[in-house]
Amino acid sequence: MLMKGYPTSYLLELYVRLLRRYGDPGWWPGDTPFEIAVGAVLTQNTSWSNVEKAVKVLKERDLLGPRALLSCPDEVLSDIIHPTGYHNQKTAYLKNLSSWTIELAGGDIEHLSHRDPWEIRTLLLDVKGIGEETADSILCYSMDMPVLVIDAYTRRFLSRLSPRYWDALSGKGKINYTTLQGHLMERLRGDPGFYNRLHALIVLLCKEHCLSAPICKECPLIDICAVGSGGYLSENGK
Ligand code: SF4
Repeated sequence: MLMKGYPTSYLLELYVRLLRRYGDPGWWPGDTPFEIAVGAVLTQNTSWSNVEKAVKVLKERDLLGPRALLSCPDEVLSDIIHPTGYHNQKTAYLKNLSSWTIELAGGDIEHLSHRDPWEIRTLLLDVKGIGEETADSILCYSMDMPVLVIDAYTRRFLSRLSPRYWDALSGKGKINYTTLQGHLMERLRGDPGFYNRLHALIVLLCKEHCLSAPICKECPLIDICAVGSGGYLSENGK
């Protein structure tokens, strides 16, 4: 039995409108799966522009491989990734990720692509420095697996779109990561490309319109959003 919350038809309408507005975002930028995984760690608590600066230097110094990263002295690596913040912690996290990649995949993340995503997710979550959002970003964008990333943007956007559906799903409490991810993936079944685009489109919308202080004018969802339409949503969510 499906859980309470957002109807599939409503969620699909959001997806179609966002795709029409932004097209396929073609995420995630990176030349190799390992580079994408490194970016997923570095982007914790910082903007993507800071990650780009660090990745550019890592690439110039030929450090974007697990063995190269592991052999790089901590102080050198920490200095390179300084723009991303928490650089000492992230140095350790990148080395943990590198060891994991070598031990589990012989140094090549692509060797894991045939494995079960949820099994790999469990193993990733055992790596210190990799939480649910980072693990799912690696699964979705680095390993091309059918997993939807949940982040603060997803929560903000969904709770504004329909407090009614949000409250029905949460029971007016907090919705944990697993519950929200399970709900959305149950209602929206798709291939890796679909989940890749869906998360990317939500991020694009939240950076252009659904900011901390929303700019609802010209938002493609204004007429099906409770906040954008002044609080009114009919029974079918429109
Ligand atoms: S209409 Fe406003 S609150 Fe609703 S999704 Fe768009 S920007 Fe966010």
